[in-house]
Amino acid sequence: MNNENMIIIGAGAAGLCAAITSARAGQSVVLLEQNNKIGKKILVSGNGKCNIDNKYINLNRFHGQNPNFIEEVLEGYGFKAVEKFFTSIGLELVEGKEGKMFPMSLQASSVVELLEYEAKRVGVQIICDCTVTSIERKNNTFTVETSQGTKTCEKLLLASGSLAAPQLGGSNSGYAFATKMGHTLIPRHPSLVQLCSEENWVKACAGVKVAGLAQLYANGEYITEKKGDLLFTNYGISGLAILDLSREVSTRLANFDYCELSLDLMPELSKEKLTNLLLKRIKEGSEKPLTLWLQGVINKKLIHIIVEQSKCKAKTEKELNRKEINKLVHAIKNLKLSINDTKGFQGAEVATGGINTKEVNPQTMESKLVSNLFFAGEILDVDGDRGGFNFHFAWVTGMRVNKLLH
Ligand SMILES: Cc1cc2nc3c(=O)[nH]c(=O)nc-3n(C[C@H](O)[C@H](O)[C@H](O)COP(=O)(O)OP(=O)(O)OC[C@H]3O[C@@H](n4cnc5c(N)ncnc54)[C@H](O)[C@@H]3O)c2cc1C
Repeated sequence: MNNENMIIIGAGAAGLCAAITSARAGQSVVLLEQNNKIGKKILVSGNGKCNIDNKYINLNRFHGQNPNFIEEVLEGYGFKAVEKFFTSIGLELVEGKEGKMFPMSLQASSVVELLEYEAKRVGVQIICDCTVTSIERKNNTFTVETSQGTKTCEKLLLASGSLAAPQLGGSNSGYAFATKMGHTLIPRHPSLVQLCSEENWVKACAGVKVAGLAQLYANGEYITEKKGDLLFTNYGISGLAILDLSREVSTRLANFDYCELSLDLMPELSKEKLTNLLLKRIKEGSEKPLTLWLQGVINKKLIHIIVEQSKCKAKTEKELNRKEINKLVHAIKNLKLSINDTKGFQGAEVATGGINTKEVNPQTMESKLVSNLFFAGEILDVDGDRGGFNFHFAWVTGMRVNKLLH
């Protein structure tokens, strides 16, 4: 049985960052990873470019039941701290849109390779294909059972992530180890995830992408809205605006709320402007079918549902009048889509909920219940917006673990 100074479970963003900073601070660190390679989520992130952080770190981009904890974690650990860490491992960053930061190479693999090199350089022992199956705590020592034998350690960091993306290593195990040691969990739901609808018309529109606006209604009440791409699919709807709304939808569906989206397919045109545009296009006496006439302004696949939801009576261009145009405009700017599910953890980038942060010291990430037990990254009840905020939380909580060691 090997007795280690510090064991870290999970070689994702948080575990790798914590391993490097802890080893630099003099710990002998063993990093255990169940996958056959480290950093699988980093590798696929940002469509292979890795949206590593965001320049504009702000408390309201993070979510969890304990905002005070998040605020304390972020205090002094903004973007600059993360940039400094990456500079120290030899990775330069560049800025994209909306403060999104990327490695200068625009390759996620360079992030993982430089993290791995630095971890090994400072003496971290990385063991892949090593699944932790149980943890016992006795006489100030943790006994860690793994698929490669038993190990013991004084300090244990759970950086095993969330349930999101099980195909990349997302797992329940960290939550199970923590609850066995007395920690409690905040309910976990998929977030940054595609939404499902049972309405048949979306299937017929699969592949259509528009720059739109999605408003969320729960039990008929307006909740919030997001602007951006709307992508119709054979299961429902995706696109950036939808991913941004999904946290709210996921939580509300879990609460048995009836969720409906109202889609504005032309948010750049006001109701008046669109009405005038359409009225101007009507040629007197034209026999052109309404569906063909509408192809002059909108994607063909969307026309059937717009006409159906609008209840427009006109069949040809010449039958259009102000009243019928008003109905069409209303449908284009308020297309209704009921949502009955999400694509689940399999489709999610992150999970809401996790370890109750009231039980964790925000300065050091140490458990308030079990001494020398630490948490970092997405296992905690904190999730961020799209745009690099989730990685930010993983890097900075990884760095904070090391604070105790100075
Ligand atoms: C497709 C996709 C794209 C994303 N893109 C971005 C992006 O561009 N920007 C951004 O900020 N965020 C992005 N995210 C979210 C981001 O990847 C996560 O928030 C972040 O990786 C969390 O880091 P973590 O270290 O806490 O957990 P993880 O990265 O999930 O690491 C946890 C590790 O623990 C291992 N593990 C779990 N249980 C055990 C066990 N019992 N034994 C051994 N090992 C175990 C897992 O295999 C995993 O490697 C994306 C996520 C996905 C799925």
